[in-house]
Amino acid sequence: MLVDYHVHALAHGEYEADHAWLSSFVDQACRMGIIEMGFSEHDEYMAGFDFNIFQKLKIERQQEIDLRLGIEIDYFPGMEKEMAEKLSQADFDYSIGSVHFIDGWAFDHPDYKQGFDDRNIDEIYFRYAQILAQMVSSRLFDIVGHIDLVKIWGHRPQRQKAVDFFSPVLQEIKRTGMVVEINSAGLRKPVGELYPAGDLLTMLYDLSIPITLGSDAHHPQQMGEGLEEAWAAARRAGYRTVTGFKKHRPIIIPV
Ligand SMILES: [Zn+2]
Ligand SMILES: [Zn+2]
Repeated sequence: MLVDYHVHALAHGEYEADHAWLSSFVDQACRMGIIEMGFSEHDEYMAGFDFNIFQKLKIERQQEIDLRLGIEIDYFPGMEKEMAEKLSQADFDYSIGSVHFIDGWAFDHPDYKQGFDDRNIDEIYFRYAQILAQMVSSRLFDIVGHIDLVKIWGHRPQRQKAVDFFSPVLQEIKRTGMVVEINSAGLRKPVGELYPAGDLLTMLYDLSIPITLGSDAHHPQQMGEGLEEAWAAARRAGYRTVTGFKKHRPIIIPV
């Protein structure tokens, strides 16, 4: 009885989100025992998402699963007005704010990962956390996407523990009332762990910050992948509920 709030049917633009393609994600979600799922395309591919097909599917499948409409937005400091416009283009149930760029550097993209060799890792973590805190402060989004994505290739800070970089971000999340996702995509990446790591998840629980779950699926076969592990980690930290969204209103779901 899980939820999956982070799904990209269009992936990076290589698929067409027709009725059959979206259905294959829903079919797999049902097979995985997911009771609620949200499509959350990247903002740059949203134009290829057909809201009418989504609405049709939502009604057709309502006996089996609750479908939600979300969007994942690349956070760029100073572009708040443009991001707000993207959020108003459809009647979204929720939005995910994600940092994929550090001062123009696409650090999570395989083509640019050598950027980690040219920079000080502690400084990268510091700057990443700083931009993440700005994203939270903008109050534009409902969910913090893959909170410690900066570890994706396995680089670890030297002078401080990774969690120390995130403490100020967590305070800001607490203050603004955002939800943090446990994103299982990290299990498929070189780092081989969930976003967030266990110690960070415990800090979230201690601050009573609500969580949701997301597989970050870019293909039907990845739908719900790793969420059992994500939920097990959440339970170990102390969580007993996840949070869903309807028209940006948080809804507590016991798991
Ligand atoms: Zn992302
Ligand atoms: Zn994503």
